[in-house]
Amino acid sequence: NAARVHVPLGERAYDILIGPGLIARAGREIAARIKGRKAAIVTDENVAAHYLRPLSESLAASGIEASAVILPPGEKTKSFEPLMEACDKVLAARIERNDAVVALGGGVIGDLAGFVAGIVRRGVRFVQIPTSLLAQVDSSVGGKTGINSRHGKNLIGVFNQPDLVLADSDVLATLSPREFRAGYAEVVKYGLIDKPEFFEWLEGSWNDVFSGGEARIRAIATSCQAKADVVVADERENGPRALLNLGHTFGHALEAATEYDSKRLVHGEAVAIGMVLAHEFSARMNLASPDIARRVEAHLRAVGLPVSMADIPGRLPPPDRLMDAIAQDKKVKDGKLTFILTRGLGQSFIADDVPASEVVAFLKGKH
Ligand code: NAD
Ligand code: ZN
Repeated sequence: NAARVHVPLGERAYDILIGPGLIARAGREIAARIKGRKAAIVTDENVAAHYLRPLSESLAASGIEASAVILPPGEKTKSFEPLMEACDKVLAARIERNDAVVALGGGVIGDLAGFVAGIVRRGVRFVQIPTSLLAQVDSSVGGKTGINSRHGKNLIGVFNQPDLVLADSDVLATLSPREFRAGYAEVVKYGLIDKPEFFEWLEGSWNDVFSGGEARIRAIATSCQAKADVVVADERENGPRALLNLGHTFGHALEAATEYDSKRLVHGEAVAIGMVLAHEFSARMNLASPDIARRVEAHLRAVGLPVSMADIPGRLPPPDRLMDAIAQDKKVKDGKLTFILTRGLGQSFIADDVPASEVVAFLKGKH
């Protein structure tokens, strides 16, 4: 009852294993793929409390000597000081190029540890053990790593594909329901991009996905496959990879508008609202039926995600300020923006000539 997604990137091809009990098996899986016999586990305090010991024991049982870098949880950890601390500890543990940096945590840890693995000694082996749903279906696949700058999120980093991804479906049991739902928004996204049958399956099976077991593994595997397909087609995001931004243009604006305050909005929640807005905006532009937007909204609402700006606690800035955030996120050229819009359920496309004036008018109508 495990799944395997192969990411065929030539010499850098790798496997994503998805299923129960993978942390206990991590030592064997890593030892089979990596020559070195040392590993530095990078993790955060929350995740370490549950899974650092089982992982270290699994590595030790396969003859891999493990050390650990335990960082504070949260987005602030994706910054320069924790990066330097992690690099120094990895070097102190005498990690060499055939040894591994192992990211054990959510997207914050995966992004930071992947960057560490890419720059220490000009690159050491890198294993992702994503522990949040978002990390399992999104951030651990695709090779984007890095930290934030005062100029914005994810501005300092490198493309660095992992050598192996182990998505242990059991670890999601300790993830908070809110974080689980937020990751689920990205799962829904893959259906809405170009897999209407997957979206329909989620509408009927989301309860099973939330309670664990086979349906959850299937949802994660389908998502990883979808992301892997896009990444293989467009590793450096020159073209189709932009489809992964469905819901993210509005979503990023809402995250900025709520000052990245996770008490008000977390990323996946912003994406859920953003996907509904993208479908409503597509209807407004006469590209798709408004019924599709209602259907997307109904499903996201059913699982407990916010679906409109009214669902965000506290006051939001006025539409023109939201538009400023959108214009900053996407380059505006001659008053035109690039947006991911849809022609129907699971028929998203890259529209690169969306008039900014239409977006402002749409947002004003929502306010
Ligand atoms: P996160 O890493 O902060 O994890 C969320 C919270 O859940 C944290 O408090 C963490 O300690 C806790 N946690 C994680 N796994 C747990 C578990 N199994 N049990 C108990 N607690 C657990 O956030 P996230 O949502 O996983 O990731 C968000 C980050 O991912 C952002 O920095 C974003 O920029 C990045 N991201 C990167 C990519 C990419 O392609 N590289 C894609 C999407 C998002
Ligand atoms: Zn996202």
